[in-house]
Amino acid sequence: MKKWECTVCGYVHEGDAPPETCPVCGAGAEYFKELVDESEPAASSSAAPDAPAAPAAATGGQPAPSGIAGLVLKYHLHPISVHTPNGVLPLALVFLVIALVFSVATFEQAAFYNLVFVLLTMPVVLVTGYLEWKNRYKKVMTKIFATKIAASVIVSACLIAMIVWRLVDPQVLTSPGRWIYLLLGATMVGAAGLAGHMGGKLVFKD
Ligand SMILES: [Zn+2]
Repeated sequence: MKKWECTVCGYVHEGDAPPETCPVCGAGAEYFKELVDESEPAASSSAAPDAPAAPAAATGGQPAPSGIAGLVLKYHLHPISVHTPNGVLPLALVFLVIALVFSVATFEQAAFYNLVFVLLTMPVVLVTGYLEWKNRYKKVMTKIFATKIAASVIVSACLIAMIVWRLVDPQVLTSPGRWIYLLLGATMVGAAGLAGHMGGKLVFKD
């Protein structure tokens, strides 16, 4: 049985030929390269004649990126920078609900500061995410990456809308628009969760 490795995400497929698309990241068969088992006789390691040719970018052995991109990949700065605001986002939403239910203004204020903190971390999240996608995942635009990018756009848009809204109307949580404001918060947390789920799928391959 031959083994084929997805050069985008590292998923390993067993079979005579690579799968049409990677079940983890969605990359096409051309991104798979055959894994040669050193312990087997050389004869069995030759590629099937009908196997799709690997593109230049997928032949492996690429030099590791240097500079900031290299640091981002080496030290996993994207997951680290993502988890920082991801812990704060749901807290902001919980504080908003508490402020609404119990009419406690200080919780609303805390939620606002939390949102500002998340906004400050967003540039790092977006830049490291882009560098990871560009260098580790070869900028492949499959469903999983498109979903992650869309989710990050939704999170950013909801976040900016909530902060601007709160600056324009500090009493937003007692205004008739408070449900829309809360809905923005829930959408933001949901989109962040979706992006995290996709990230987990890429990392853990299931
Ligand atoms: Zn893959």
